Amino acid sequence: MAPPNNAPSHTKPSANRNVKHVVLGDLLFQTWYQSIYPEDLVSKDTDRLYVCRWCFRYSCDADAYAKHTRVCENRTTPPGTKVYDHGGYAVWEVDGEDYKLFAQNLSLFAKLFLDHKSVFFDVASFLYYLLTSTDPDDPENYYILGFFSKEKLSWDANNLACILIFPPYQHKQLGKLLMGVSYKLSDWEKDGGLIGGPEKPLSEMGRRSYSRFWEERIARYLLLHGSDPADTEDSSQQKPKPPKSSRKKHPQEVMTVQDIGLATGMLTEDVITALKGMGVVEPTTPTKKQMRAFSDDGHHAQHLKPAIQEVVRVMNKCIKLISAKPDLATYE
Ligand SMILES: [Zn+2]
Repeated sequence: MAPPNNAPSHTKPSANRNVKHVVLGDLLFQTWYQSIYPEDLVSKDTDRLYVCRWCFRYSCDADAYAKHTRVCENRTTPPGTKVYDHGGYAVWEVDGEDYKLFAQNLSLFAKLFLDHKSVFFDVASFLYYLLTSTDPDDPENYYILGFFSKEKLSWDANNLACILIFPPYQHKQLGKLLMGVSYKLSDWEKDGGLIGGPEKPLSEMGRRSYSRFWEERIARYLLLHGSDPADTEDSSQQKPKPPKSSRKKHPQEVMTVQDIGLATGMLTEDVITALKGMGVVEPTTPTKKQMRAFSDDGHHAQHLKPAIQEVVRVMNKCIKLISAKPDLATYE
């Protein structure tokens, strides 16, 4: 499947796109990349493809499109099950096996804005999470703003395979909302939570988006829970705790990357990436005893690096990181 690519901004459409523009509902916008629509239905030099904003069926014919939108079976509610609902936004879980045609058409549409060469037809092994917004004055009038996909059985504990906010809805922090949902879903899947992260490698834009998301996630954790990690709901028995005496005596908190990962549901490697991006870490060398303790933790040992214990100086950086964020990003 595709590397996560939130595509927060885009300026250079690929020259060899088969579809130049799409009409999605009442929105007309430019495509970015080539998709793999069947050539007998969508010719190689299609200027305008009409795509149903509820089910993503497509047509080059405006009349056929108009006719379909009047009878589309998804026009009042998306397929699948609602798993998140807040402030007019909702996320719907759609099983690719149950809704194959929907998942294929969504994937074909998404490919117009994703720069990778993936086969999209293995939809049965993926779950799709649609982000929708609803008109408060008209509850049955909803818009699909983007989605992310997730492999049903991921040996690498990937909580997200591919993410896209459709171009007209970008720059509204919605990618961040979906990333938050992807982590939240990991928590729901297993008692005590499942540590996971997006499928790697990340695209350049995916990396930038995720770095910001991870930094804010960690900043929020450190601000809200950092003073006493034992109070966090994600604390587990296996977590090594810093000596209490050091916490009381010093204004600085000593904690491990693993502590933060366990508390936030993030992989150690992602925690390290974020902390480096925040510029608030000072690597130190762990003692042999500490190294043994970390190695005994089989699930995470593979992600640990030699400089595992890091002193984190946080408050000002954290406040700066999360103070500018909109309400949507507070979803955890
Ligand atoms: Zn439709």
